[in-house]
Amino acid sequence: MLEINKFNKIIAANWKLHGTSLFIDEYFKKFNNISLDSNVCGIICPPSIYLNLCSSKIDPFYLGSQDCSNFEKGAYTGEIGASMLKDSNVQFCLVGHSETRQLFGVSDNDIKIKSKNLINNNINPILCIGETFDQKENKLTKEILYNQVTNCMTSDSSNETTIIAYEPIWAIGSGLTPTLDEIEGIHAFLKNEITNYTNYKILYGGSVKSNNAKDILSLKSVDGVLVGGASLDPLEFINIAKA
Ligand code: PEP
Repeated sequence: MLEINKFNKIIAANWKLHGTSLFIDEYFKKFNNISLDSNVCGIICPPSIYLNLCSSKIDPFYLGSQDCSNFEKGAYTGEIGASMLKDSNVQFCLVGHSETRQLFGVSDNDIKIKSKNLINNNINPILCIGETFDQKENKLTKEILYNQVTNCMTSDSSNETTIIAYEPIWAIGSGLTPTLDEIEGIHAFLKNEITNYTNYKILYGGSVKSNNAKDILSLKSVDGVLVGGASLDPLEFINIAKA
């Protein structure tokens, strides 16, 4: 498993349900011998069918998966287990992305099982958490995040294995972001105030672009960003990684 604490900055791309083999060829051509500082960890999460194709082109970035099954093997049609991801050179895996929670009914308990399977297979989970707009308006953000963190972590989770991604649901794909003070306040709360879960690396996600990445990444409690839409443009993603 990668030692995530050796990195100062983590920049992750979530391509969601986008891409073709042609798109991937063109994407990595634009990387054109790109180098990253050794303290920067760049991660790309393509759709699973393209993990192997990306694996051969991805250096110096690491390969991530967008999700994994609760199950390791068996009669679970359509599923992909953590050991299969490991076999495809996957180093990181998103768990609990709000789209999987909202659209596919993934529960906190599912996320806990996925995290455990991933850690058993030496893959670092990136645990996504976040509040809805209504929850924010009703000042429930900290309570929601506290519950998500404590319900989704396993006895094997630690700040050496697991990364947290704070992604306000209302900021994903909307062009809206919290203020810098709000992001810093939530990250500081997550980093320092949830007993037994201190000092985790915490990424911010939700409408990150090259024009706001630098300000977000300069916040003291932000260890990196998780980028959806903007990561589909390789030059935009490179600019974010270099911000
Ligand atoms: C995401 O879905 O993880 C995400 C951060 O999306 P976007 O950057 O498009 O808001």
